[in-house]
Amino acid sequence: MEPAIPTGSAFRMRSCMNSFAPIRYHKLMPLYSPGQTLLIDADDTLWENNVYFERAIAGFIGFLDHHEYSPAEVRQALNAVERETVLAHGYGLTSFTRSLVTCFAQLSLAPLTEERAERILGFARSIAEQEIELLPGVAETLAELSTRHQLILMTKGNHAEQADKLSRSGLSSYFSAVEIVAEKDPAAYLQVLDRHQLAPRPSRAPQTNWMIGNSPKSDINPALAAGLNAVFLFHRDTWILEHATLDPAPQGQQLLELDSFQNLSDLF
Ligand SMILES: [Mg+2]
Repeated sequence: MEPAIPTGSAFRMRSCMNSFAPIRYHKLMPLYSPGQTLLIDADDTLWENNVYFERAIAGFIGFLDHHEYSPAEVRQALNAVERETVLAHGYGLTSFTRSLVTCFAQLSLAPLTEERAERILGFARSIAEQEIELLPGVAETLAELSTRHQLILMTKGNHAEQADKLSRSGLSSYFSAVEIVAEKDPAAYLQVLDRHQLAPRPSRAPQTNWMIGNSPKSDINPALAAGLNAVFLFHRDTWILEHATLDPAPQGQQLLELDSFQNLSDLF
């Protein structure tokens, strides 16, 4: 007997994915009509990022070689230092380096000699030297989406670092605008909407502005709070400081979950 052709869309909510694999017999029409505005996160949405920090941190913890604290305890201490550093100095590699140095000074019994400082700088430098590794299907999917929708890159962090990564990624031409903000909070999303004259939704009209990204804390919850729809893209290596419970979508807004960037072309 021939299997039935599924009538639903070709994507599954992530919560359903464990129970059955998506079955795709043919390319369906995207779920949403052309002319949407898609704000798209960069780190760990378009390209790998946090995994390099995890490797650098593992190297740092090995180098510290603490005799009293376990690696997990050192990591907890570093997380606390990073929270403070980010608040005071923002995101980026300079802040990360500062966090490693502060953590070393707090935990190590050995003095911070020039040689040790140089080793610590090396862990941060190893991140800066990484080639950009696009996540699967990103370039093809952006090329397709950009023919139907307005794409705006929406990332946070150090302006020069983020702009440099975008330039090296080869993806710049798919975006009509690039927004690099210090923090992704509801006010930042409202400012971006305002700057691009993306009018607030008139009552009853469907919302056509979307935020797409891997961070519940920075991409999804503040975008929902600012009135946008959102697509949460699961990434297994999302930075622990970006973890949060996903807020439910307010009435009239949508929150969708996908586990792969390329499935966006089923939606848009
Ligand atoms: Mg991200």
